[in-house]
Amino acid sequence: MADIEVGGTLIWYYYICPREAWLMGHHIVPDQENDNVSVGRYIGENSYRREKKEIVVGGSKIDVIHMEEGQMIIGEIKKSSKYRKSARMQLAFYLSELKERGINAHGELRFPKEKVREDVILDETTENELIQAQKEILRILYLDTPPFPKKISFCKNCAYAEYCWC
Ligand code: SF4
Repeated sequence: MADIEVGGTLIWYYYICPREAWLMGHHIVPDQENDNVSVGRYIGENSYRREKKEIVVGGSKIDVIHMEEGQMIIGEIKKSSKYRKSARMQLAFYLSELKERGINAHGELRFPKEKVREDVILDETTENELIQAQKEILRILYLDTPPFPKKISFCKNCAYAEYCWC
């Protein structure tokens, strides 16, 4: 397998399901017609349109929500808060990508369907956790075969379900 760059999407998948991270990392495309893929894409593309601008940093596309007193506020928009930990770590990863480039940004996680917003900051504990997660993701991606599927609540809506439970 060619060199892999761990991006925010892989962080998101890893915290939900390592098998899913492997499938995504190996460019196995999930079912685009899956309702959850379509709804997630729709919400991502159509929420906060007036505020949002997208920037690309390393392997990540980041939504810039706005500048506030000279500080960049970046956001991540999710369909539901059910996988909050994944979403928080994905956004923390984007903050770390910016920090590496000398930009101190602030994160704002948004769940528009629930009308909820949460702040995300990059503290030392989170930075260390991200380093460990990236190492673990690389270890998983270099496996010749994906980790075995484990039934979790996400499976029933997962676009990769046909790769696991046929
Ligand atoms: S169906 Fe379940 S086990 Fe399979 S990739 Fe999705 S979340 Fe992981």
